[in-house]
Amino acid sequence: MPWQPSSRPASMNRIEPPPPQHQRLARSALAAPEARTDAHTGPERRIERLFHGIAVSAGVAIGPVFGTIEPDAVITKQKIQAADIGAEGTRLEAAIAQSLKQLAKLRARLAVLPEESQSEIAPLIDAYIRMLGPSRLVRGVRRRIEETLLSAETAVMTEAAAIADAIMAQADPALPAEDLAGLRRRADEIGEIARRLVRNLTRSPFRSFAGLPEGAILVAEALRPADAALLDPSRLAGVVTEEGGADGHTAVMLRALGVPAVLGAAGLAHAMRPGDVAVVDGTAGTVVLNPAALTLTAARKAVTAFARERQRYTRLRRLPAVTQDGVAVELQANLELPVELPLIVQSGAVGIGLLRTEFLFMNRETIPDEAVQTESYRTIVEAMHGDPVTIRVLDWGGEKEIEALTLAGVVPEIADTNPALGLRGIRLLLRRPELFETQLAAILRASVAGPVRVLLPMVTTVGEVRAAREVYERVARRLRRRGERIPEKLPPLGIMIETPGAALSADALALEADFFSIGTNDLTAYTLAVDRAESDVAELYDPIHPAVLRLVQFATEAALRMRMPVAICGELAAAPKLTPLLLGLGVRSLSMNASAVPKVKQVIRSVQIDACVRFARRLMEQADPERIRAMIDGFGRVDG
Ligand code: PEP
Ligand code: MG
Repeated sequence: MPWQPSSRPASMNRIEPPPPQHQRLARSALAAPEARTDAHTGPERRIERLFHGIAVSAGVAIGPVFGTIEPDAVITKQKIQAADIGAEGTRLEAAIAQSLKQLAKLRARLAVLPEESQSEIAPLIDAYIRMLGPSRLVRGVRRRIEETLLSAETAVMTEAAAIADAIMAQADPALPAEDLAGLRRRADEIGEIARRLVRNLTRSPFRSFAGLPEGAILVAEALRPADAALLDPSRLAGVVTEEGGADGHTAVMLRALGVPAVLGAAGLAHAMRPGDVAVVDGTAGTVVLNPAALTLTAARKAVTAFARERQRYTRLRRLPAVTQDGVAVELQANLELPVELPLIVQSGAVGIGLLRTEFLFMNRETIPDEAVQTESYRTIVEAMHGDPVTIRVLDWGGEKEIEALTLAGVVPEIADTNPALGLRGIRLLLRRPELFETQLAAILRASVAGPVRVLLPMVTTVGEVRAAREVYERVARRLRRRGERIPEKLPPLGIMIETPGAALSADALALEADFFSIGTNDLTAYTLAVDRAESDVAELYDPIHPAVLRLVQFATEAALRMRMPVAICGELAAAPKLTPLLLGLGVRSLSMNASAVPKVKQVIRSVQIDACVRFARRLMEQADPERIRAMIDGFGRVDG
């Protein structure tokens, strides 16, 4: 496939292979968190423990836990000039501050755990925090930068290895096993904190899931969207992280891949031990570590029931998405990666309503050129056999860090800016015409293979739509001059409505755009000022908050008045409970993760539009989110 992750060129230096003593450190650090937690808790008890998180991808999974193995951070710079000592010190301070922030956050979130779990995990995190204070490690790293002109990351690895060696030198085999385990644990902790520092210094972007055993439950502190894009859903039973929000792009990816997942399960990554088994309930948002026999039996039943339910839904595949009173609804799927194509075809979706092209740019070191992009889009368009494909141009920003763009100097380091409010989406593309033009050219060339629409992300002004259309037409003229085959009539150019500003100026935007696609994920985040990928504010992230629903209604009505196509492609579209409301608001096109398509179709086939309209009218009069929730839960009992 054209957008497989590229491998790292051999020319990028890894840190020199350390001497044997260091290798022990590297190995033990790599084995974290298993070795770490094992050393803490010993081999004795495997009691059942329940963790709560955010349910992000339905289904139940049972399997051995597997901690993410982070590859060695790639260190490209080993030595510095004397003149750079100050700057290197500043880099080190920034990495320490970032590491402390990460650890403080993990520490604070332990409060949700039962006391005995807290008292087990907290000391470990506290030990890491102490090591980043005025410790031997930090003093030694500073000295190595200043006296031997090592780069900060090389200094961290070298100093950590020296400390670990010194600790293990005390490991006299005659010592009691408990003391030996204590020494080993301290050496591991040094390795672990060094790896965190180096990761933060190098912004190490790649994770390796190569060693992931088949049927395992992947457990990580955090998983970035680019990491999620590397997962192979056919080998993985489930995913759990300590960080993350319900509609962040990692959650979106996991749903798209159909992998049962719970995010924001505080403490789990630090509590698990090698050999532990977990039950992940991606519908309830719970994780049971070391389930007792009864729990396991219930979980096995749930796995079977879920598989049966999926089976039942496949029968809907060929049936049309038409209401009881004959109103047809366009049901499409969102796509991030080509691996989802078979799921989309099986789901019965009629086309792709949102192709998130960001994932084409992730996990590679160079920006894909026009030929590579054309091939990728063409493959997808052809796979849909004449069903429409809406290709969204690159939406850089938010939590979607794209290393190739950073390496090419196209975007600033994401951590240095506010990625949600900065040069996101169309704003970046209009500032970087070469990036925009290349992508538009590729889309236009692929659009001879089937019906395509082009979608602009993060639009907030009519000026942006006009400017984008100018670029679009210029690219088309250039391609024609070049003799490339592109459609005579250019594919429609639409916009995402995903900020309150865009929703409230939808009437003006409708004069410029050919269609709207309402992105309720960002619309919710920006309306309620809640980071969609942040576990700490996850309870505040509410896509059915009346403010969000009113913006959806306003934008939909503006489009309908202009007789302009309007779709919803945010996660709201995937919730079957909300289907009657969305139909009642006048929406006739929905795009969602493939696994939601049959469930939503089932609801569509069971309702009458009149009842939906009455329901929406009554619901939109409400301002109380709890009342709205109750009405949505009650639909059918009164209106259906
Ligand atoms: C949205 O914001 O609702 C959307 C569909 O776009 P994304 O999730 O890719 O930001
Ligand atoms: Mg969005």
